[in-house]
Amino acid sequence: MDYTKPIEIAPDIYWIGYVIPNDPFQCHVYLIKNGSESILIDPGSMITFPVVLDKLTSIIHIRDIKYIIMHHQDPDIVSCYSTFEKILPKGERYIVTHWRTEMLLKHYMWKTPFYLVDEHNWKLKAGERELEFVFTPYAHFPGAFCTYDKKTGILFSSDLFGGLTDEFSLFAKSADDYFEAAKPFHKHYMPSKEVLHHALKQIEKKHPSMIAPQHGSIIKKDLIDPLIEKLKDLECGLYLLDDYESDLYILSKTDEVLKRFFKDTVSLSSFDLVLRNLFDNIKKVLPSIQKIEICGISPLSEEKHCFSFGEDHKIIEITQMDKNYSYKKELKQNEKKIGDIYIIIDKKMNKKEKKLLEVLLNKISVPVAISLEKELMLRELENKNKELYKKAITDSLTGLYNREYMKEYLYNKIEESKRYKVPLSVAMIDIDFFKKINDTYGHLIGDCVLKELSVLLKNNFRDSDVVARYGGEEIFIIMPFTNINYACKKLEEFRKLVENHCFCEKKNIQLTISAGVSEFSGEENMEELILKADRNVYYAKKNGRNRVVCG
Ligand code: GH3
Ligand code: MG
Ligand code: MG
Repeated sequence: MDYTKPIEIAPDIYWIGYVIPNDPFQCHVYLIKNGSESILIDPGSMITFPVVLDKLTSIIHIRDIKYIIMHHQDPDIVSCYSTFEKILPKGERYIVTHWRTEMLLKHYMWKTPFYLVDEHNWKLKAGERELEFVFTPYAHFPGAFCTYDKKTGILFSSDLFGGLTDEFSLFAKSADDYFEAAKPFHKHYMPSKEVLHHALKQIEKKHPSMIAPQHGSIIKKDLIDPLIEKLKDLECGLYLLDDYESDLYILSKTDEVLKRFFKDTVSLSSFDLVLRNLFDNIKKVLPSIQKIEICGISPLSEEKHCFSFGEDHKIIEITQMDKNYSYKKELKQNEKKIGDIYIIIDKKMNKKEKKLLEVLLNKISVPVAISLEKELMLRELENKNKELYKKAITDSLTGLYNREYMKEYLYNKIEESKRYKVPLSVAMIDIDFFKKINDTYGHLIGDCVLKELSVLLKNNFRDSDVVARYGGEEIFIIMPFTNINYACKKLEEFRKLVENHCFCEKKNIQLTISAGVSEFSGEENMEELILKADRNVYYAKKNGRNRVVCG
């Protein structure tokens, strides 16, 4: 497409704009060739005027321009007219606009009279051609309107459907691509979602065959509906977001990340998920990001905790901080430092990316700091809870489970055994003549024996077995998924081990144990099962001690 020439976008309708080099903010001028009643739409600025005039005169004689539509009064639309008017030959000619625009334009003191659309039933008849005007108030000017050409179905949309494009393209390529260009433009210029929605609805009623905006690219029929759908959901009024940042690209990207981040964050329970969410959202606008690491000091223990999420999608905790971080920012809340956030990027960022990251981090630092502080506090409480629970179920002398826990556990295992028909065995152990040890060596040595026996128990029974201190020198063992034969064999092995063991180093104490083993029959209750094992201990004692009685 040769942009140095006028481009006929529909019969007798021409794009006669000038492509401003390296400018994402392109301004279009359109001409409706209509004999001696030709219509010029948004004549443009002094930047574009020389080329526009060239193109215009290559199609018609300028005296044939009868109507000049000015959709609003911005300089990119009207500022050439002071010069243009001087070279226009005398003749009947009107500036077509809204009364609100006229109120401002009159200050130029042009000689050309106004044709006010609102006073002409929003219509204009130019020879055979009929134009209709669509009122789109506040999008983006109170008197904003669009022009609809009945003959071709083209809607000249002024700022609506405008776009910021890195590369000039007269026609939009796809709805998705063009939406990306239209997004920052609308977010920034349109005051609110409601205002934009209203304007789009007015435009939809016309069922345009093509939309020719003043900025961005022309939208052909098949892209119109999908684009309108996307624009309808767009949150606008972006200028409210930041009082110092004026870069549209940065505002728009920041807005995208923050909206998604906050929307998702409120529903996330753990900090790991918040971190992952932050990473995913930043990655969408800064693809070179590799890893985020957030470190903070726990409020009670004052220990450093780090959380990270990165390319490998593994959450690594308490890591050595990578010295090659690309960006670091303090996380503060109410002037109090909570921690630091490190952003690791795989390549050097350009100026724009750095700026975007900086703005983003400024925006998220407070909520992330709050989230981090809460997480560190929760983790400490959780750890404290775990400690307390462990204490509550443990016997302090031996470190074995206590009787309360043993009963709770046994109750659950009996239920499990009943429901799933799995074997369950228990054993009671009693030290033989323990009183004698106390009497001979003293209580402290007695304690030492108990402790050492507990270590032997822990080392010789499975983790899935629960070994508890039932009473003074009585031990109770719960063996889930174990039948009596295996349990008996196990206890017999343990009995032998104790028999051959020398307790309490220097004292070289030798002792024996008596044990009773029972299997849950499927019928008795917990007390009966305990009693069954206890009774077997009694038989073991009665039959000479240092033995295991099963059944
Ligand atoms: P038997 O072979 O009949 O079981 O004889 P025994 O002496 O082991 O039995 P008895 O029940 O008469 O004595 C148990 C002793 O265990 C009495 C008590 O002083 C001692 N004992 C209970 N708890 C502890 C403890 O925590 N530390 C110490 N050192 N001794 C304890
Ligand atoms: Mg006893
Ligand atoms: Mg005893």
